[in-house]
Amino acid sequence: MLVTMGKKILRVILILEVNKMHVVSDECVKCGACADVCPVSCITEGETKYVVGDACIDCGACESVCPTGAIAAE
Ligand code: SF4
Ligand code: SF4
Repeated sequence: MLVTMGKKILRVILILEVNKMHVVSDECVKCGACADVCPVSCITEGETKYVVGDACIDCGACESVCPTGAIAAE
């Protein structure tokens, strides 16, 4: 019983980890620095701000170059 519950909890944690990604807030000034450093090229220019796509591997490279702190882990 306890082992089964533990396995279920572990599965939920794994799903949450896999689905984690970076997102861009309205502080974005569209400088493009994040898109330049993204190793999987998943950041594209949107109408009012840059946007992170589903391919994000949550590496954090974009976060360290953003001048306004607009991009961060969700
Ligand atoms: S680095 Fe920051 S401010 Fe520049 S485009 Fe990316 S999210 Fe926007
Ligand atoms: S966290 Fe890494 S993979 Fe995700 S958008 Fe930023 S640079 Fe790209």
